[in-house]
Amino acid sequence: MVKFYNSLTRQKEEVPFHDNKTIKMYSCGPTVYYYPHIGNFRAYLFMDNIRRVLKYNGYTLDGVMNITDVGHLTSDADEGEDKMLVASKRENKSPWEIAKYYTNIFMNDAKALNIDLPEHIIPATTVIDEMISFVSKLLEKGYAYETSKGIYFDITKFEEYGKLSGMDIREKLAGARIDVDEEKRSPYDFVLWVKAPKEHIMQWQSPWGMGYPGWHIECSVIGDKYLGETIDIHTGGVDHKPVHHENEIAQSNCYYDHQVVKMWMHLEFLQVDGGKMSKSLNNIYTIKDLESRGFSAEDFRYFYFMAHYSKQQNFTFDALEMAKNTLKSIKTLVKEHKDGKCDVDTSAYEQEFLSSINDDLNMPRAIATVLKMLKENRSKKIYQTFLKFNQVLGLSLDEEEIPKEIKLLAQERWQAKKDRDFAKADSLRVKLTELGYQIKDTREGFEISKI
Ligand code: AMP
Ligand code: ZN
Repeated sequence: MVKFYNSLTRQKEEVPFHDNKTIKMYSCGPTVYYYPHIGNFRAYLFMDNIRRVLKYNGYTLDGVMNITDVGHLTSDADEGEDKMLVASKRENKSPWEIAKYYTNIFMNDAKALNIDLPEHIIPATTVIDEMISFVSKLLEKGYAYETSKGIYFDITKFEEYGKLSGMDIREKLAGARIDVDEEKRSPYDFVLWVKAPKEHIMQWQSPWGMGYPGWHIECSVIGDKYLGETIDIHTGGVDHKPVHHENEIAQSNCYYDHQVVKMWMHLEFLQVDGGKMSKSLNNIYTIKDLESRGFSAEDFRYFYFMAHYSKQQNFTFDALEMAKNTLKSIKTLVKEHKDGKCDVDTSAYEQEFLSSINDDLNMPRAIATVLKMLKENRSKKIYQTFLKFNQVLGLSLDEEEIPKEIKLLAQERWQAKKDRDFAKADSLRVKLTELGYQIKDTREGFEISKI
């Protein structure tokens, strides 16, 4: 039984909420206006963690993540400038070039971290038509209204506004200052569609003239298009709770007149040296920064497991060094177990590992079990059990480090041998040796290893 903490109901709940073996999951994705940092990647490692744990339990995932390439202003509310346009001016490139460049970097870093990416990764600019019809329906149903600046959501029409973040919206409204925008019915109403001034670069035709979407609408619309009217799990960082996710809930639930997302899961922030990551402190690190200091993306992946996602995690280079060393010794031990001769019963470890990951992703406890198990007498059974656990951990082992082209050559040699074309098999073996790999034939097939 898998139990995760639902931020909406403030309790651990059993997953899933139906008999279906497919879990529909939505994750708020990156705004592609700058280099993603290790704090951002803590959020995607969290997503990876959920996906792998569910798969370990036999579920199939239907996952979606948006790529924000329009509409996210420099504040999460409706103030400031579009982040994409800020980047566009900074780098003297079009917003589309900016989006392409930083999306690529995000995907490459995610691959280096071995993040199990969702089945659908959808840029906001690919669903503009769907956003327009979504907003039109909210207008028709009376949840939204038009001003000279755009289309706004009227939060007083949604009874549950504020439930997720535990704010009493009536109290907040009573004490609120008058919004500078006098056309808005209340200061917390948020924009669904912005009427664009002529000079605005990214704009599209709509029933309300040329314009561009507000930030929040993309997640409701992409969720609706790819997952439909019920979503099992929705993830994001805690910073999204009070504005972005409140707004998303309001839009989606009013669109359908029922609760769309069953479970909300939020990740606490990564701190650096006990404080916030910020440009002024010069402590924003990317995966590349870690690599230039001699760490691998995988060291950071292992570092993620050292704290529970619901707690702030403090990043220091000392802690990363510790992660790196532990990871190294894990790999050495795993290799030793591979040829181990002892007979060890691993069922208690399997149970402990499973109960930890299924108890709201208790990775520090799961890791403790792995380390304890690896200290046992060397045993092939432990090696096999580790491989099973590794479906969740996603660490690279030597076997996995063998490049694809080498595996293909080895496979070709094996086929030649089966076809009794020994000359070809021999020449392929020589070629593999030249490339630094040796082949050992076994009863079941062959093993490749580095020379
Ligand atoms: P953004 O690209 O700014 O939209 O953020 C992408 C994701 O990273 C969001 O889910 C944020 O909540 C998350 N995030 C941003 N900063 C941090 C941090 N320091 N620690 C953990 N998650 C973060
Ligand atoms: Zn979102």
